[in-house]
Amino acid sequence: MNDPLIDPFARAITYLRLSVTDRCDFRCVYCMSENMTFLPKRDLLTLEELDRLCTSFIGLGVRKLRITGGEPLVRRDIMSFFQGMSRHLQSGALEELTLTTNGSQLHRFAGDLYDAGVRRINISIDTLDEAKFAEITRWGKLVNVLRGIDAALEAGLKVKLNAVALKDFNESELFDLTEFCAARDMDLTFIEVMPMGDLGEEDRVGQYWALSDLQAKLATRYTLTDLPDRTGGPARYLRLEETGQRVGLITPLTHNFCESCNRVRVTCTGEIYTCLGQEGSADLREPLRASEGNDVLENAIRAAIGNKPKGHDFDYSRGNEGGKMSRHMSHTGG
Ligand code: SAM
Ligand code: SF4
Repeated sequence: MNDPLIDPFARAITYLRLSVTDRCDFRCVYCMSENMTFLPKRDLLTLEELDRLCTSFIGLGVRKLRITGGEPLVRRDIMSFFQGMSRHLQSGALEELTLTTNGSQLHRFAGDLYDAGVRRINISIDTLDEAKFAEITRWGKLVNVLRGIDAALEAGLKVKLNAVALKDFNESELFDLTEFCAARDMDLTFIEVMPMGDLGEEDRVGQYWALSDLQAKLATRYTLTDLPDRTGGPARYLRLEETGQRVGLITPLTHNFCESCNRVRVTCTGEIYTCLGQEGSADLREPLRASEGNDVLENAIRAAIGNKPKGHDFDYSRGNEGGKMSRHMSHTGG
């Protein structure tokens, strides 16, 4: 194999998060504005280009690939991409192929995903109340997502739910969400809302619910044990002794996780972001299109990783949104 990808701070890059579309069938208030302008289709990498790109990363030592978006399952023919990637699972070059989805299309694709070698998926759901679900996603229907969750479990996929922790919104549902997951043997992760994109009317500082507070509330009902599990990302994990389930807390704003960062993100147009919390990116689309061989592309990947910053600049202190990013989460895929 080629030399592995090591960044200037001696971190091995083994995890790629790839956004395959900026489009979505929801308009979650913290993620998109209602009238988003999407990229012209010609700017997107084709499915063949996405395959070449991932194959190059895998050749350079990436062991885990997460597909995200936008909503990855609204990209036309995306199953053929998953089927293509399954060859890397079969060869052993790739350890895990997974995705993050809003679940709306899962009832159609859960079985195909399993057949392509996907074994675990993350489904985002912030509330179990139909009216609140419609409010937060603007366009989503809770019933479709619940159907998607059932289909995923039936297909044999291990499911983890992701919920964005929102003050005065799902605070009151903390135990309902926990019990919903416990009953289905699903892990649950809470995400602190991040200052991404210019969403106009929304006051994201006001929506912010510190996960230290959420944890304290959980501790009023459950015995919590800190788990040593680290994923190289911003999540830390607790076990609820009474249910045995794992609860993750993603706290990019209050915890420093950068020293163990093992990941990079690539957008659907082929921009590589080596840090979620920094503006700097590099273009991989032109190198990808520059030649049929992969040397130009691999050099561009190495150059980008050679510039991976040490850490991010998010900061909510003093009620401001320091380090706020201008791009939307649907752009880099979260
Ligand atoms: N559409 C898919 C979904 O919703 O799961 C995948 C893409 S979405 C951008 C990935 C994750 O980012 C979701 O769990 C979503 O809740 C989260 N997210 C979006 N905007 C966010 C924000 N401003 N702060 C924190 N999490 C956010
Ligand atoms: Fe779509 Fe996911 Fe963003 Fe919601 S969080 S608008 S489902 S991309």
